Amino acid sequence: MPELPEVETVRRGLERTLVGRRFDEVTVGRERVARRTSRKELRDGLTGARVVRVDRRGKYLLLELDSDSVAMVHLRMSGQVVIDEGRTAPPAHSHVVADLDDGQRMLFIDPRTFGEVVVASRNEFEILIPELGRLGIDPLVDGVTIDDVVSMCCNRRRRVKSLLLDQSEIAGIGNIYADEICHRSGIRPDRQAHTLSRRSCRRLADSIVDVIEEAVDLGGSTLADAQYVGVDGEPGSYQDRHRVYARTGQRCITCGRGIIRRVMIDQRSSHFCPVCQR
Ligand SMILES: [Zn+2]
Repeated sequence: MPELPEVETVRRGLERTLVGRRFDEVTVGRERVARRTSRKELRDGLTGARVVRVDRRGKYLLLELDSDSVAMVHLRMSGQVVIDEGRTAPPAHSHVVADLDDGQRMLFIDPRTFGEVVVASRNEFEILIPELGRLGIDPLVDGVTIDDVVSMCCNRRRRVKSLLLDQSEIAGIGNIYADEICHRSGIRPDRQAHTLSRRSCRRLADSIVDVIEEAVDLGGSTLADAQYVGVDGEPGSYQDRHRVYARTGQRCITCGRGIIRRVMIDQRSSHFCPVCQR
């Protein structure tokens, strides 16, 4: 499932290719992709509009349009936004096909159909997508300070990983990066947040920013299912740097002694090294 680094990679690709472009003909396939509004509203909202800016909040992509509307794209489990030359028939599961005024084409492809595209006027936007208003700090845009982590963890009887996955605390972190961040900071993902020392909170704050920035630099992580790709169709390469995620039973490459363990936390598989992480 795409997390902040993957969505940011897509954002950068769209910023390069889409800013200044106008959507000409727009086709919307499955109704489910436009479930908060309708296929007609999505088609009418995009058609003729020019992209002014491409922003991101957590895992939400936001395309500011010159029509005073905003388009939101959420990839969820398996969504992809691809820009191509439009010379072939759209691939399977292309739920939105939008021709651009420079002859290229934007595709929203989503085999599992959990993703969505919404176009709404600025006024209606927060009403239609209320969760945008509840997002916490963004590690890439806002940074994360030791005080942010101390106030997030103190007096909280929750596991560290649960807090990292809580989008209202820090926006954009999912299962892969939560595990990698815990490993980088030497903290077990099932550790109770209120037991962290100030020093651990500092390590956690630094690790959140460092892991996310490194992953963005490498274009995010593409797992074996190959569902995540950038707008050019290219996979990311941060998966080669994963130290614990999906490495259950393998020797830890950080300490060379521990064997990576897997536990369930909030019904999510969680991976850690029992030697490096306390
Ligand atoms: Zn280790």
